[in-house]
Amino acid sequence: MASKPNILIIYTGGTIGMIKDYKTKALKAFDFSRIVEKIPELAQLDCAIESVSLEKPIDSSNMNPNYYATIVTILEENYKKFDGFVVLTGSDTMSYIASAISFMLENLQKPVIFTGSQLPIGDLRTDAKENLITSIEIAASRKNNVPVIKEVGLYFEYKLYRANRTTKISAEHFEAFASKNYPELAESGVHLKFNEPMLYQPNKKGATLIARKNMVTDVCILKLYPGIKPIVVQTILEIKNLKGVILETYGSGNAPNEAWFLELLQQAIVKGIKIINVTQCVGGAVIQGHYDTSLGLKSIGVISGLDITTESALAKLMYLLNEGLSAESFVKYFQKSLRGEISEK
Ligand code: ASP
Repeated sequence: MASKPNILIIYTGGTIGMIKDYKTKALKAFDFSRIVEKIPELAQLDCAIESVSLEKPIDSSNMNPNYYATIVTILEENYKKFDGFVVLTGSDTMSYIASAISFMLENLQKPVIFTGSQLPIGDLRTDAKENLITSIEIAASRKNNVPVIKEVGLYFEYKLYRANRTTKISAEHFEAFASKNYPELAESGVHLKFNEPMLYQPNKKGATLIARKNMVTDVCILKLYPGIKPIVVQTILEIKNLKGVILETYGSGNAPNEAWFLELLQQAIVKGIKIINVTQCVGGAVIQGHYDTSLGLKSIGVISGLDITTESALAKLMYLLNEGLSAESFVKYFQKSLRGEISEK
């Protein structure tokens, strides 16, 4: 490994890449090839920084698996040349994007840190500079000449999280993300402190990176609410080519135990549609059978998503559906920790 780590910044869009035109007061995207010029503080970091940008940066609301594949391709093509990566996206769908990338990259041995900001980089009170500078520092951190982080992380407001454990929880506060079911991987204060026992350790040391680019998108999220009508559930489950559903249930995985509801789900399962039970709560886990109102789900073959987030469950569903697994293997892999996204039973 070179004496100075090489870091690649991949800019896809979002508020972080904008500056205010002080004449017009309007926000506009800035040229990322001039990033070190715009943020002179970056020159003080003990690493070499290069950047690439999507030709047309996007608001993260326009993200989709085609863009995931573009990000994965950039990471794959530059994997050998760089020691760490910082991916900038809008924060709105960052947890979805970063979760998906975590599954698409197998045998990752280098840091891929997602970050963004609530205020543009040119704003006086911006959170962008700290988020970017510390993300680069994290991506460049090494211990015994090996990267400290060997997984996909998400850094925001002094905290590094495992990306596939996060959820965006605030459109207002700088602390915009939470990871209720897994502790922070690092905290930035006077010192950058890594929570070493909680870091992901790839089980196949030295294995070659596998970069997958296909995801199955015939999926949907069905969020339960009191008063949901049979026609709503039925219409969703009859979507042409539907292959999987994230069923967002209440509390520890509870749902109406009325016959119509369970019958509709059962018909879908018999047709081969995977139904994953994920809680609407930001913390805690699904325990099917804990209450009477989840016993029925268990008995008809709804798959418990344990403590996975909705964002991560959706990404994992899209990923595993593409792997051509048998019904048993699908359940086994869904409930197994592949990238640290789930706490196994
Ligand atoms: N709407 C923006 C986006 O997600 C917000 C942000 O950048 O944080 O792209």
